[in-house]
Amino acid sequence: MGRYRLILLITVILAMGVMATSYISYRVSRASIHDAIVESMLPLTSDNIYSEIQKDLIRPVFISSMMASDTFLRDWVLEGEQNHDRISRYLWEVQNRYGAFVSFFVSDRSRNYYYNRGLLKQVSPDVEDDAWYYRARGMQAPYEINVDRNTSHADGLIIFINYKVLDYDGSYLGLVGVGLAVDSVQKLVSHYQHKFKRDVYFIDAEGLVRLSGSRYHATGSRIQDKPGLEQVFRQARQQGAPASFEYDRQDSRQLINIRFIPELNWYLCVEQNESEATRDIRHALHANLLLCLVVTAIVVALVHVVLRRYQGKLETMATTDTLTGLPNRRAFDIVIDIFRNENDRARSNLAFITLDIDHFKAINDRLGHFGGDHVLVEAARILKSSTRAADFICRWGGEEFLLVVKDCDEHNAMLLAEKMRSAIEHEAIGYKGAQIRITASLGVAVARAGDKVEAMLERADQALYEAKRAGRNRAVLGAVDR
Ligand code: GH3
Ligand code: MG
Ligand code: MG
Repeated sequence: MGRYRLILLITVILAMGVMATSYISYRVSRASIHDAIVESMLPLTSDNIYSEIQKDLIRPVFISSMMASDTFLRDWVLEGEQNHDRISRYLWEVQNRYGAFVSFFVSDRSRNYYYNRGLLKQVSPDVEDDAWYYRARGMQAPYEINVDRNTSHADGLIIFINYKVLDYDGSYLGLVGVGLAVDSVQKLVSHYQHKFKRDVYFIDAEGLVRLSGSRYHATGSRIQDKPGLEQVFRQARQQGAPASFEYDRQDSRQLINIRFIPELNWYLCVEQNESEATRDIRHALHANLLLCLVVTAIVVALVHVVLRRYQGKLETMATTDTLTGLPNRRAFDIVIDIFRNENDRARSNLAFITLDIDHFKAINDRLGHFGGDHVLVEAARILKSSTRAADFICRWGGEEFLLVVKDCDEHNAMLLAEKMRSAIEHEAIGYKGAQIRITASLGVAVARAGDKVEAMLERADQALYEAKRAGRNRAVLGAVDR
């Protein structure tokens, strides 16, 4: 009972200890992953994408500025836009040379929209599709960047540069420029999307998702329809500087970095699902817990085995006489109850034989204490070998031994006592070259059902005393006093 309680306690302590350690380290890792995402991963992704955008913008702006200051173009316009072939060849050359998606020129005087195949159309303030021209025409800056998703360009992002063309006196002649596909941004966006499960998307000032590499925020969807995100977006707009936020989407926690991109007048959002990012360490936690379970089970099993063996050893030690190796008096106390019960049930006799070595003090005096010990060990061996395995023999104390025999009447008990006496008398014990001979006196008592053990021992003792008085080296049967 005590052992099982101890094992239970060890199990609980071990399991709780390892589980607590695993859980704490999981929490610490999760917190540090959270911080790493918020403080460095998302801002870095945002920085990368932003610098890619800036890099991508340099080329089209440069090409457009070259076109705007081209003397051919200006001369051709000033000379009255004669011969459309010349302008279309010019635009075709530019488009081809720079791998532009489109190149164009809109003349302010004629409102003609030219492209690489000549005249496309005339722009008009009444047509909604041409609104961009009238907006750009009135701008202060030399150029504007206009980003559009182009349906014919496989979901790609097209950056249009609308560059003002001025004549040699600085008067406005029209708008020229190119449209270039922004492939590297697109590539980066899908790279982050696939490799890091990060959602990258752009929102314009009105809250419309303009370009998306996101599973949740598709292009064309509105921030206004996403309560958690909308609030965060409003905060980001107030704050101005790039910043990280958190919001709950359905049952998942989203970490998001929002940055304003002035060139596009868009907001770049980089978002990551926290539980997706911490999935690996959650798996590690589960593996840890499983391992802890296994280790706990092994340790508990080991403890169980060791305890059982140790307890067994302790029991043996406590019930064994260290000198002779025979059971001791404590063993007798344990065994005698079992014997009594068996005997009472079988209604048979239980014989008690006590044996005391004669004149042992003299042996001790002659051989010394160690010699005496040796004689005791040998006497025990002789007694053991002259009795059956089923008989119980123990060292009662000093140089006294006690034998308990089941199912044994007085006649047989006396025969056995005589056999023991004879064995002790006739077997010489060698010690330091000398042959020691000893004798012993025995007292026999046979119990019947109902007899008390103490009374039997007393009767056997009494008989032993009789044997001593009668001259030793003999066995005496205890009288039955009933
Ligand atoms: P008796 O024939 O009357 O039994 O004489 P005895 O000398 O044997 O007398 P008694 O039983 O009174 O003395 C037993 C002696 O045995 C006393 C003690 O010093 C000695 N003895 C008891 N236990 C040990 C032991 O473990 N080792 C040794 N060497 N001697 C022991
Ligand atoms: Mg004695
Ligand atoms: Mg004695």
